[in-house]
Amino acid sequence: MSTTDILDLSAAAAAAAIGGGSLSATELFEAYRDRAASDRAAGDAGLNCFTWVAADAPSEPVDAPLAGVPVAVKDLFCTEGVPSQAGSRILEGYLPPYTATAVSRLRAGGAPLLAKTNQDEFAMGSSNENSAFGPVRNPWDRERVPGGSSGGSAAAVAAGLAPWALGTDTGGSVRQPAALCGIVGLKPTYGAVSRYGMIAFASSLDQAGPLTRDVTDAALMLRHMVGRDPCDATSLAFPGEIELPTAERLDGIRLGVPQELTGEGIERGVLDAFAAAIEQAKELGAEVSDVHLPHAPHALSAYYVLAPAECSSNLARYDGVRYGMRATDAHDLLDMYMRTRHDGFGAEVKRRIMLGTYALSSGYYEAYYGRAQRVRTRISEDFRTAFEQIDFVVTPTAPSVAFRLGEKTADPLAMYLNDYCTVPMSLAGIPAISIPCGHSEGLPVGLQIAGPAFSENRLLDAARALERSIAFDARPARV
Ligand code: GLN
Repeated sequence: MSTTDILDLSAAAAAAAIGGGSLSATELFEAYRDRAASDRAAGDAGLNCFTWVAADAPSEPVDAPLAGVPVAVKDLFCTEGVPSQAGSRILEGYLPPYTATAVSRLRAGGAPLLAKTNQDEFAMGSSNENSAFGPVRNPWDRERVPGGSSGGSAAAVAAGLAPWALGTDTGGSVRQPAALCGIVGLKPTYGAVSRYGMIAFASSLDQAGPLTRDVTDAALMLRHMVGRDPCDATSLAFPGEIELPTAERLDGIRLGVPQELTGEGIERGVLDAFAAAIEQAKELGAEVSDVHLPHAPHALSAYYVLAPAECSSNLARYDGVRYGMRATDAHDLLDMYMRTRHDGFGAEVKRRIMLGTYALSSGYYEAYYGRAQRVRTRISEDFRTAFEQIDFVVTPTAPSVAFRLGEKTADPLAMYLNDYCTVPMSLAGIPAISIPCGHSEGLPVGLQIAGPAFSENRLLDAARALERSIAFDARPARV
């Protein structure tokens, strides 16, 4: 098989080709390893997708369902003996003694580690400009961001530098970069995939999810990650198996369009592509109606209290004593803590720690954290009520197409608005997928479909039916 043919295969197709004997696992691994390694070597002239690339193909033959199709994994997944830095200076060079459950399950399923991907520091960001290892570029336009915080994973898949990749989504970090790079991104139900070994940002929201070229690949990767894990008390057994989607139509499927997430603040071109996707859904037999999520407009405010509150607690462990870097020129213990954090954390992480510490301080706790928790409950109730009348909520994934590098870095609030449509689902803990639904200004637009907890199989089916019928063939030029 020629290299071009190999790179054209989806992960599922590559696994089938290996199974059928027309491709070897080593050939596949080497094809991607070469491409990933050249991107890494190119530095700023490349896309800067990777923080580490495997040196050699695994030697043992792969006798497992995923047949040796390698996976690129976001830097924040602990991988034994491999740098796992969460995009942060404070963890630079950190080599964990163990591997995250999601990664070890994929490996057991037959998907070896290809590379670690660049990301926003501790997964805080929507543009991948907060990485200590430099920004990732969007393969559709190098002067634009790939989205974040799983930007390296999304850009690598879109550019054909990895067959598929693993990311994490706390408030949109799988779905939003998938939308901005023109690929598929799935955030599973909270608890469906173990968080063990994922370097924590906001533990009540963090969830691992696939970034793939198509919906079938997303289902295939999820199938090999889900399930209860004794190492994560919040993990849950998935009811049944993740099936590979087969649906071609949407007959009898009721889609709800929430006005709250489809109006003001969303670019015209994005709304047009969204409207065209809705028309397509109708042609496939879906019934489309309006639905109300009255508290959704408050989701962003609640999220930006809750996520920083949890991060301020999770990041307290980086004190220079136990992990990663330590300031060497300190004159006493307190000074060592302060210098380590001063030098080790970037500006956005410091901003979140300060916001979170403030929100949790006595006297303000009820006013901020308590109130945000109550908003979170209302948002979950909104979805529960909506799902009594409809099967799925549909929205644009992100309010705009990929924006220019540097365009929003000086304005954190403008940056936070990227998460407007994705954060409500995160707060409710429900699954949501982003699929490409067209272009605006020559750049990809994402359609988000969200369903009740553990509706992944139905959600993947609906996404697959739409994916088949929405024309989205223009791919970015291979780098
Ligand atoms: N952009 C959001 C934030 O900065 C979401 C990040 C994420 O999902 N990890 O918090």
